Order: sequence, then structure tokens, then C-alpha cells
Amino acid sequence: MATRDGDGWVECSCGSKHWGLNGAAGILLVDTQHDTALMQLRAEWTHGGQTWGIPGGARDSHETAIEAAIRELEEELNVSHEVVDVVHDVLLTDHGTWSYHTVIGLLSSVHELTPNEESVEARWVAIDEIHELDLHPGLAQVWPQLKSTVREVISAEQ
Ligand SMILES: [Zn+2]
Repeated sequence: MATRDGDGWVECSCGSKHWGLNGAAGILLVDTQHDTALMQLRAEWTHGGQTWGIPGGARDSHETAIEAAIRELEEELNVSHEVVDVVHDVLLTDHGTWSYHTVIGLLSSVHELTPNEESVEARWVAIDEIHELDLHPGLAQVWPQLKSTVREVISAEQ
């Protein structure tokens, strides 16, 4: 079943190394009721450790970006796919040889957080305060664009 054939490093055309042979995907889970999003502080030993990011990881060859992002959300934070309404798949990072898809999901019901060993902390952060966190560089780069997409998604849903 879970083959994990996407695990591995890519020597990217941009000159950096990225995790995920088929690219990677993550999910920004939004609680529209409180105008917050689920952020996770990644453990020191992970790539980009000790910075804040969103749940996500390498895509397997058979997975869509949305499937990969939801799987990572379940693995890393034990958040069931049943409480997530997927509303958007945005490609903000595309280096040709490697890409990162950000999936925007809306929380459909309250869910308790129980992070695994890849994250040392997870919490709901006000969307307007996310830029104040020590963000993973990849996320920091796309955050202004991602935030405006989130705002569009939220207003379209209401
Ligand atoms: Zn790259």
C-alpha cells in the first residue's frame, strides 16, 4: 500500500536540494470561525527543523498533491481527513525539477491535536500573525501570495 517511493532528495535546477523525488505537498488547514490556521514547529532533526511550517512532505508517485497533503496531516498531527474540506490546490513553488503544492483545507469540525515526533509543537495561529513566526524559508517566501489566496478562498466560502 504505502510504498513511500517519493522519499529522497532532489538536486534541483535552482541549486538547492529539496525533499521529495516527485515533489512535495503540504496543507494549510484553516479554521474560518476563528480566522486561524494550523501551524507546526518542526523538530530539530527534520529538514528546516526548529522553524514553523505546515504539515506536509514528499509525494509518492501514485499520489495527487491533495492525497499526499492529507496523508501527511494524518501522519504528523493525527488530524483525520474527515474533518477537512479541501477547497484549493495552489502551486506556488515550481522549480521544474521540483515543485511544492500547497493545499488549502477548511476545518469542518473541532479536532484535538496530537503531534507525532516530526513536530515538537502544533497550534492554531491567527492568519494575520503567521508572518511573525520564524517560518521555514520555503514558506516565508510564498506566504504573502498564499495568504491572499487564503483570503480569497475564505470570502468565496462565506
Ligand atoms: Zn529548487
